[in-house]
Amino acid sequence: MNTTAILISVVIPPIDGEYLYSYPSQLPPPRIGDRLEVPFGRRSTAAYVLSVNSSREEAAQSAMIAKKVVLKEIPSDADPIAAFLPEQLEFFEWMARYHAEPLSKILDLAIPSFAEGRAESIVELADSANIGAKLGPSQARLVAHLQSVGGAALLSELRHDFKNVGGMVKSLEERGVLRRFAYRTPSNSDLQASNTLRDAKLTEAQLGATKAIVHSIQAGEFHSFLLYGVTGSGKTEVYIEAIHAALQCGKSSLLIVPEIALTPQLIQRFEARLDTPIAVLHSSLKAKDRWANWTRLLRGECKIAIGARSAIFAPVMNLGLVVVDEEHDSSFKQGEGIRYHGRDLAIVRAKLSRCPIVLGSATPSLETYHHAINKKHTLLELPARFFTSKRLTYKIIDLNKIKPWTMPSKGITREFLQVLEQTLDRGDQAFVLYNRRGFATYLQCSHCEYVLECPHCSVTLTYHQRPNSLLCHFCGYSSAPLLVCPSCKKTDQLGAVDPGKLEPLFINRGAGTERVFEELQTLLPKARLGKLDRDAVQSLQDYTTILGKVRSREIDILVGTQMIAKGHDLPDVTLVGIVDCDIGLHVPDFRASERVFQLLTQASGRAGRRDKQGQVVLQTRLPDHPSLQMTAKEDFLQFANVELIARRDMGYPPFKRLLRIIVSAEEKADARNNAALLAQVAHGLAGRHSVTVLGPAPAPIEKVRRHWRYHLLCKGDSAPHLQAFMHSVRSSFSAGRNIRITFDMDPQDML
Ligand code: ADP
Ligand code: ZN
Repeated sequence: MNTTAILISVVIPPIDGEYLYSYPSQLPPPRIGDRLEVPFGRRSTAAYVLSVNSSREEAAQSAMIAKKVVLKEIPSDADPIAAFLPEQLEFFEWMARYHAEPLSKILDLAIPSFAEGRAESIVELADSANIGAKLGPSQARLVAHLQSVGGAALLSELRHDFKNVGGMVKSLEERGVLRRFAYRTPSNSDLQASNTLRDAKLTEAQLGATKAIVHSIQAGEFHSFLLYGVTGSGKTEVYIEAIHAALQCGKSSLLIVPEIALTPQLIQRFEARLDTPIAVLHSSLKAKDRWANWTRLLRGECKIAIGARSAIFAPVMNLGLVVVDEEHDSSFKQGEGIRYHGRDLAIVRAKLSRCPIVLGSATPSLETYHHAINKKHTLLELPARFFTSKRLTYKIIDLNKIKPWTMPSKGITREFLQVLEQTLDRGDQAFVLYNRRGFATYLQCSHCEYVLECPHCSVTLTYHQRPNSLLCHFCGYSSAPLLVCPSCKKTDQLGAVDPGKLEPLFINRGAGTERVFEELQTLLPKARLGKLDRDAVQSLQDYTTILGKVRSREIDILVGTQMIAKGHDLPDVTLVGIVDCDIGLHVPDFRASERVFQLLTQASGRAGRRDKQGQVVLQTRLPDHPSLQMTAKEDFLQFANVELIARRDMGYPPFKRLLRIIVSAEEKADARNNAALLAQVAHGLAGRHSVTVLGPAPAPIEKVRRHWRYHLLCKGDSAPHLQAFMHSVRSSFSAGRNIRITFDMDPQDML
């Protein structure tokens, strides 16, 4: 027998650094990516294997030098289970370097939480007869615990409460007290595809795009494509064909979509055509199901993974193709913790896996489009809608020219109302977009003009009718409507009790979906209205239900926020009306125009998807704004060119890379002072790294969740420059206590 000790180096989240352990030589060696319990201090804790070595020298020489040598023995009942694939380690390490975060934190983020412990084992009391057996005190405690939870538990859960539970279970198993068996992940049968749908016959353009992608899949080489095609041009069909081609080469595919797109319809569309089980991964799955899908990928049982942002970490074996649908979507960027960008990481993953990546959109981000012009990405185009050659008609309504008292309601013009009525008379459906939820954007005291703000954030409180409350859209703070003005202390006489009788103390300013809904209900009493926004949608299920009602024609007009702009393919929707196109244009963010253009274009794309003529109504106070003009001309290229010139002149992405550093603290002075100190360090290091530093300045939203925020904006010519700079700043500056420093590489959120 080979008795050479095996040394493994592991990482133990959330602790930084690597640790060396000796692994029992009588056991088969673990693999990179395995998860196991290791003794650490006085307890045992979960660790991931990073390297497996036959000697200490080899361990020390291996690329990942174990910094903190512990050299403890791992107990012989170690039972490693796979948590990620060995080939994913390089990707995780890349990410750790890019975001200047320890690998342990990356693994913590990437691997679903149910991976904690051995998900595969269930421990069950054998039968009551044997429980009388003589038990030690901790064994008795374990048995009592199992009895109290109904006789069975997951081994992983027991691990939290009992030390050395593996050994204990083993000995109790031998004595017939317990049984241990594998936890079965849900079977694949419910995911079997029906294979009944017709195969698509691709159009000329689809065929050309597919061929290019398939060529790279077969060659097994990295290649990035921008699949630019107007909404409804058949991009999804191209993905399906390419995934199919990958399957035929024996390779797997990973498809990333915005969270909200993960409806059963989308999954069914893929399943129906691909006849193979699909692992779906997103945040509203139960932890158990997420882990189950994760392990099916790990074992190679699924060759396709579809998921939201975090699916980029999925253990897809033998990756042959990565697709990011709606690549411009801002939900791909993680807003908290490690602020990674799912689309950008997808490109890295494809590169490391030597496979092509397809970025699809009708409104590509300017970064992606710029790379396509510069031949970093290959541009593939689908110029026409699949079902119709008719162009949409656009009607721009200039609100500056309309006297408010001539409007049928506060937000809806006579012209817009007419078009809505005609649409309903024809038996068609309409989408009405108002990209803000609630009833009133803010409330103002009629006596002293004070505007109600969130006590924790420097933003106004939005008034919601249902439920009757004031809500902070930043931190979720909510309160009952106020009856006394916090500033002038005047009391609301009757307003709250009997709103009809007296002028209320607080005046509603600005609107939201609730108010638009109410106005339409009054103006069109016979129409059946639906609402689609974050208040109406708590889960993917709600979302599917509401859209199902539109499809089954139980809803005539759907009022909603940007949620109504995304991906829907509803044949009888012929009108899209945008109540206020200017929302979002006045935000201090260099991407404001781009986002509004994307929103307007995507929303418009919901109209007239079959042979019926589609119409778009745009109400605005800025009728000449390029975001609006180019939407109405359906001219993405011109919009992009105008916007790119502005970006170049101002030194913003895609011409420069950005790093945003946010300093926040509960005390305003702490945040300000630390930001000033950090800025000193940053300015000192900037020249060496060819980086320019702007700030510090108070963040546009100065206070969020009781924390005051100051920020710095750093610009560099390339990511490596900025990265080196970030590492230097991190190691040369240590913040005071209770100060939070956030490094946001490639920030999307500038507020
Ligand atoms: P996109 O993803 O670009 O919005 P889709 O792939 O969803 O477009 O296509 C829009 C509609 O056209 C869908 O209903 C789709 O089934 C249909 N379609 C697209 N291409 C074809 C094709 N080659 N054959 C049959 N139907 C197609
Ligand atoms: Zn708040």
